[in-house]
Amino acid sequence: MTPYRYILDTSSKKYRCPNCHKKTFVRFIDTETGEVMPDEFGRCDRESKCKYFNAPKSETKTDFNYEYIPPVKSSYHDYNLVIESGRGFKSNNFIKFLKTVFGADEVKEVIMRYLIGSTKYFEGGTVFWQIDDQQKVRHGKVMAYNASTGKRSKDANGKAHINSVRSLMKLQDFNLKQCLFGLHLVNETDCKKIALVEGEKTAIMMSIFKPEYLWMATGSKHGFKYEYLKPLKGFEIVAFPDKSEYSHWLAKAKEIKCYGLDVSVSEWMETTTYPDGTDLADVYLMERKKSSPETPQQFPKSEQDELIKKSDNRIYSTSEKILKKLTGINPNVLELVKQFELTDINGIALKL
Ligand SMILES: [Zn+2]
Repeated sequence: MTPYRYILDTSSKKYRCPNCHKKTFVRFIDTETGEVMPDEFGRCDRESKCKYFNAPKSETKTDFNYEYIPPVKSSYHDYNLVIESGRGFKSNNFIKFLKTVFGADEVKEVIMRYLIGSTKYFEGGTVFWQIDDQQKVRHGKVMAYNASTGKRSKDANGKAHINSVRSLMKLQDFNLKQCLFGLHLVNETDCKKIALVEGEKTAIMMSIFKPEYLWMATGSKHGFKYEYLKPLKGFEIVAFPDKSEYSHWLAKAKEIKCYGLDVSVSEWMETTTYPDGTDLADVYLMERKKSSPETPQQFPKSEQDELIKKSDNRIYSTSEKILKKLTGINPNVLELVKQFELTDINGIALKL
């Protein structure tokens, strides 16, 4: 009988290494249940090149020639910060911009769905909260936009305005472990189709243009990775990279698929002549400008077919439905919703 509860699998079975992605990974077995431990626990056999080793928590008395490195635990923000930021939308430039494109009800719906916040740190600033599938607040990204163009606003040196709640609040020991923007919605929907884009703004706008998908954002082009997508196991994921990022995302998708995720990458944007960096929401806006408001939106045919083929149900039909679902998941949200109902009466924004 081994003195250890968790032991490395002694059979010759090898898995994909979470670090180097080679099939050289020996996983831990729980001797109490006989089950293989989650896929982040194990040892990569590429000892000189990779050295990945991650033992389950109680395996402290390790007899392997590796130092035990406990997995870094994520820090979380207080949910009240999200609630407090749910005000001051009259001076929030991103919301002002959304209102030039969508109806007031649609804008209100996305504010509640994505829990968009306001901040006075930047003039007319916005907070995009990263809330995970356990409703824990992992990150608050602070950005600013031009209210009429919807483009990111920049400082005198031409650098785009960006900051984080973590650094604005000077949280020294905050352990940042980011997640997908919009991840909190996975528990609140029957929709099994996730559309993944890079930008938060794109995800928010596309959720109105194409509500048959559940839209999430990676936050950066490097955010398209297994660590972020892991909670989406069992969902059908379609990634829509910005123009020029297709080959990078396609290569990443191949790695991610090794872990059993159903992910595909749309090539459509890459086949267009739009400038590099163009995203789906840009395309929708351009196409919308071309057509009069009365005519239905023209979306490039091939993509439209793909989207229609994949669509069958709306995620949310009414804002009541959202409220019901959100408040069922987290009582804090009820408070938030009340605040949103009172939007801009006080006009107070989160003072960061
Ligand atoms: Zn490895």
